Amino acid sequence: MPSLIDLHSHSTISDGLLAPEDLVMHAAEKGVKVLALTDHDDTGGLTVARKIATGQGMQFINGVEISVTWRRRTIHVVGLKVDPAYAPLSDGLAKIRAGRHLRAQGMAASLEKFGIHGSLEGSYAYAKQGIISRAHFARFLIDKGHASSIKGVFKRYLVKGKPGYFEHQWAELEEVISWINGSGGVAVLAHPGRYDIGRTNMLLLLEEFRNLGGTAIEVVTGSHTVDQYQEYAKLANMFDLKSSMGSDYHGPGHAYIEMGRLPDLPRGCVPVWQGWPETEIFNTEVH
Ligand code: AMP
Ligand code: MN
Ligand code: MN
Ligand code: MN
Repeated sequence: MPSLIDLHSHSTISDGLLAPEDLVMHAAEKGVKVLALTDHDDTGGLTVARKIATGQGMQFINGVEISVTWRRRTIHVVGLKVDPAYAPLSDGLAKIRAGRHLRAQGMAASLEKFGIHGSLEGSYAYAKQGIISRAHFARFLIDKGHASSIKGVFKRYLVKGKPGYFEHQWAELEEVISWINGSGGVAVLAHPGRYDIGRTNMLLLLEEFRNLGGTAIEVVTGSHTVDQYQEYAKLANMFDLKSSMGSDYHGPGHAYIEMGRLPDLPRGCVPVWQGWPETEIFNTEVH
């Protein structure tokens, strides 16, 4: 039974490998019925993705995955049902993208010192449509033979203490949640299982996220283990947060899991899509 709902995915507007239209066609082929495109810090793919999704008889959800610095650590907040024209959101994202460019220059300078030349231009060559990210630097480094896989690159480069790392300050959690909520959307803490922050900080983060107006956390996501589905389902309920699910698909060969393969949310979770008109068809089918 394919999972019909996927609320986290990437296209070439950020660091995905498929153009927005191809990503939507891929989701359709895999049986996804409700899809959110959630590119990093950029909503440039939403219009075309919505058009193709509608043509395929799918329900489309506007999305974005926003980079946040919380207590000196990077976390990601997904905005669902956002209005990309809402000025505080579009201005905020434009500022983050400008920051990405400065960070890329810093990353390239770090690689240069290590004897790796031309990484700024080389990485931008993989980022033609939208934001520049470490994923584009990773592709450059692999193509130049400095590593043989994405996993290998992120072991030896681009992370704290390694060549190509550049400390960067992303947006504040509070402002990001306010941009999302102000635009009529809901804020979802992305893949909490990937933050290596310890139990105490995780509880603090969830409490702060909820108190600032966050709505849900990703419980079922491509990078969570089966045990983490249960763990975060419990934490969501403990903090009165709803639960979301999404593959975090980045394209063929760049995916934790194929689209349409996620399991259902654990029992007892309140789905973030509860009451959404886009999911009405499932609500009436199920009940
Ligand atoms: P950035 O937002 O520029 O820091 O880039 C982060 C992106 O790089 C993530 O969204 C992933 O797509 C990718 N990435 C980061 N760490 C890893 C990793 N260990 N393995 C594979 N991809 C990674
Ligand atoms: Mn990514
Ligand atoms: Mn993420
Ligand atoms: Mn993502």
